Amino acid sequence: MNKQTSINSLNLIPRSQWFPKYFGDPSVGTSQNPLRISGPCSIESPEQLLEIVSTLSKEQSASRRIHLIRAGVWKPRTRPNSFEGLGEIALPWIADIKKEFSIPFAIEVANAKHVELALKHGIDILWIGARSTVNPFTVQDIADALRGVDIPVMVKNPINADLELWIGALERLNHSGIQKLMAIHRGFSQYKKNRYRNTPLWKIPLELKVLFPELPIICDPSHITGNRDYLLEVSQMAMDLAMDGLMLETHPNPDLALSDKNQQVPPQKILEIFGQIKLKSEVCQDERINFQIENLRKEIDILDNDILELLSDRSKIVSQIANAKLNSQLTALQKNRFESLLNDRQILGEKLNLDSEFIQDLFHLIHEESLKNQIQFFENHTP
Ligand code: PEP
Ligand code: MN
Repeated sequence: MNKQTSINSLNLIPRSQWFPKYFGDPSVGTSQNPLRISGPCSIESPEQLLEIVSTLSKEQSASRRIHLIRAGVWKPRTRPNSFEGLGEIALPWIADIKKEFSIPFAIEVANAKHVELALKHGIDILWIGARSTVNPFTVQDIADALRGVDIPVMVKNPINADLELWIGALERLNHSGIQKLMAIHRGFSQYKKNRYRNTPLWKIPLELKVLFPELPIICDPSHITGNRDYLLEVSQMAMDLAMDGLMLETHPNPDLALSDKNQQVPPQKILEIFGQIKLKSEVCQDERINFQIENLRKEIDILDNDILELLSDRSKIVSQIANAKLNSQLTALQKNRFESLLNDRQILGEKLNLDSEFIQDLFHLIHEESLKNQIQFFENHTP
């Protein structure tokens, strides 16, 4: 994180001052009662919207109650010829449903015209999608259209893993006077596919949390996973990492959904998922448990120090290798060696019950650092 970001700050209205008005309950947005958001990826018809909202809004149990409906009206799609949302005609349907069920609605806006129409139709909360957050021109246009408007805005992380861009979007809105801000973590696009459609890279939202503790962060497991089978596991991870809320997509007939169908579940299932999440507290009142955790943390501190000392020993040997390679005019990278190293570490890692992807990532990082140091050594010792 560079210094410029860390001195910046957001001028936010604390959630305790505005959440109750929107979500009705002063405890919403805490680890014990996360902000629960659900609704269709895209509004497809008044009937579809009614079916979703009537099921979601009748739930009254505190651990499953939905506080905010999300609904896609304009859909920014990666490829053309995909369903791009119904657009403006869906807005009066929202206004009608809001009257009947008195539940707040959030929609995505991607330009000044969307903002104008959303405000005209009484939308409560806006969000900026991942494909818009990447573009400072788009974000600035939206921010300009919102100057002087008092409405909460949620900003999804940009598609690429760039915390600065995410913060920049939040700042642009904040400079336009938006003080009710939230961030939505929807994962990051990656070239290498893994279990999830978008890799969560939890360290990025966690860094955001450290920089702006007042900023609520909502996790969007639907867009992280891209797969309905993993919604609960990612929701649980988000709660274990003390995120402030969850956003899940729903569709009455998931397989017929016009957008993101693999990640849809019926509204009743959304309520079940919320009911299955085990909520934990960030602070523990039991002194014995605190003492136990503190002692275990001391053990971890000692092991972490050992790891750092071993890495330092390793890097001294890397300098000796760099010296030998320089004398013999060898390249820093020797592919066969790296492949066999990675293979050996994987085998040992597996025996030690360590996650294979973690071992891969770890040794790629260690090896990258080693190469960097060798090249630096070559430069410093070449006349
Ligand atoms: C969405 O929320 O439906 C959406 C398009 O998400 P994202 O901007 O995260 O891709
Ligand atoms: Mn979607």
